[in-house]
Amino acid sequence: MNQYATIPTLPGGFPSFPDFAPGEVWLVGAGPGDPRLLTLMALHALRSADTIVHDALIDPRVLELVRPNATIRSVGKRGGKPSPQQSEITEQLIAFARAGRKVLRLKGGDPFVFGRGGEEADALAEASIPFRIVPGLTAGLSGAALAGIPATTRSTNHAVILATGYRAEGHPDEEDWEAIAKTGQPVILYMAMSRLETIVAGFMRAGAGPDLPVAIVASATLADEEIVETTLSAALRDVRAHDLSAPAIVVIGEIAGLGNKLRTAMAGAVP
Ligand code: SAH
Repeated sequence: MNQYATIPTLPGGFPSFPDFAPGEVWLVGAGPGDPRLLTLMALHALRSADTIVHDALIDPRVLELVRPNATIRSVGKRGGKPSPQQSEITEQLIAFARAGRKVLRLKGGDPFVFGRGGEEADALAEASIPFRIVPGLTAGLSGAALAGIPATTRSTNHAVILATGYRAEGHPDEEDWEAIAKTGQPVILYMAMSRLETIVAGFMRAGAGPDLPVAIVASATLADEEIVETTLSAALRDVRAHDLSAPAIVVIGEIAGLGNKLRTAMAGAVP
């Protein structure tokens, strides 16, 4: 057991946590990284599961919360190492569940936001494996918030677009950035760093001004968190100058320009 592992005493009448039954798979969002941003349900799941199957972006501090004798398996898709196919991951989940394990499928952020959680839930449904979804704080919204960037303010936007810079195999390679830019609504991009040039070009073609604020939040809530505030015309240069790399979210739009003031006034970010 460790310092994080106890759910705090909760008031009488607080809903009880569901039992993690053998043979179930729980698809759990781990939030952006910092373990203090886990939900109580995620903490309960981490304390109850005996088999954890997690992605590469899971913070090691989160994995420290599991039961001491739990099996932890990484199915990460990073670092140039051969990584399992999506179908192999779902096969593993199904096999563990059929073997009577309490299977925690741990995914970064929210499992249903650009995390293939929908596909995994679908495969579990097809295989008649009982499962639960435990939502998490998605990196786009929580990373922006911690950088002082509100997703909406009444004076800037009435919608916000969450988009991925990267499409699955078999889909057209290019998102229609010009059409997205023409909505005039801010965009919060995931997995966009390697596509930034194309994205910026699309915004320019749509008539977005060179001074349109852009903010990049890299490794939000992690030790190497870095926030870069720039503009559409300077974004590529500034990303190179800071040597920023994934994981990062990119915010394009007026809201991206609000972070500096709010961050300066904040009592402190989470880390
Ligand atoms: N399901 C996740 C997203 C998975 S896609 C969620 O809801 O957050 C992976 C992308 O998420 C990364 O390429 C990056 O764009 C973003 N991301 C995840 N963790 C992040 C972090 N700590 N800081 C910044 N971006 C992050």
